[in-house]
Amino acid sequence: MQAYITLKNGMQMPRLGMGTWFLGENRSTRAQEIAALRAGLDAGMQLIDTAEMYGNGLSEQLIGEAIQGYNRENLFLVSKVYPHNAGKRGMQKSIDQSLKSLRTDYLDLYLLHWRGNIPLSETVECMEELVAQGKIKSWGVSNFDVSDMKELLRVPNGGNCMVNQVLYHLGSRGVEYELLPWLTEHQIPLMAYCPLAQAGDLRRGLLNNEVLRQVAQKYQISVLQLLLAFVLHHENVIAIPRSSRREHVLENWKVREISLTDEDFDAVNRAFPAPKWRVPLDIV
Ligand code: NDP
Repeated sequence: MQAYITLKNGMQMPRLGMGTWFLGENRSTRAQEIAALRAGLDAGMQLIDTAEMYGNGLSEQLIGEAIQGYNRENLFLVSKVYPHNAGKRGMQKSIDQSLKSLRTDYLDLYLLHWRGNIPLSETVECMEELVAQGKIKSWGVSNFDVSDMKELLRVPNGGNCMVNQVLYHLGSRGVEYELLPWLTEHQIPLMAYCPLAQAGDLRRGLLNNEVLRQVAQKYQISVLQLLLAFVLHHENVIAIPRSSRREHVLENWKVREISLTDEDFDAVNRAFPAPKWRVPLDIV
């Protein structure tokens, strides 16, 4: 697979990174989580995804500690602003807090976590201001369906949206019907969250499916690694699996070396087919 994707503004964004939802929330597993993130960084992972929402800043603080001693230029840090903070009254405070927690002076990408009540035009204006101030290099959105994206692109500077982060895994393929083709046409990568279907929990029958087991066995990988290989098969997709365990992070990183043959991809595709009609965007 291609290791990077070129964003519309020319930035190179890694296609495989680390999610961090729930990380940093539990004191007793903190050291293990930092070791997991560092194992990823040491192996060459650069992209880390977080949000001000995660543990109310605890996830960002954990990452801030984990990245000490690493060259900031080699990292690609993504955080997200709460919808109610994504306006003139809240955004500066939110970004300053995120930067402080992450112990950095800029983010590579800042996302609107989901659509709220603040007009998109105001959010975009604030995002653009943060770019001008050098606090973020680029911005994007999350949990936006096609109609939201179309509306966003009609707003002044809305076309500067660089990515859309949405739920996407083998057991939930609704985005393939319209959103993914639309984003691809507009040169906007889809950042897949829950690419492992939360260790299979989001779709019954994924982990013990016989076809998936057989294909995984052929490549000597686990079914979860196969799920990751599936989303990364599409070249406009970025994935951010989360793990609190060193060995899992390394397993996930190894997936970049897996390239499914057409035959195997077809088998997986048939086992969990994409819907042939429009379905509402899945969220967690
Ligand atoms: P994932 O689909 O990434 O699944 C995470 C689960 O998989 C954890 O239980 C983890 O357990 C397990 N796991 C990870 N790797 C392996 C492995 N190799 N073998 C076995 N088990 C494994 O779920 P998330 O919900 O965390 O989604 C990923 C990221 O996407 C989030 O962390 C967050 O950054 C982002 N996100 C964004 C949302 C948004 O609204 N924008 C919403 C949800 C998520 P263990 O720790 O034991 O490895």
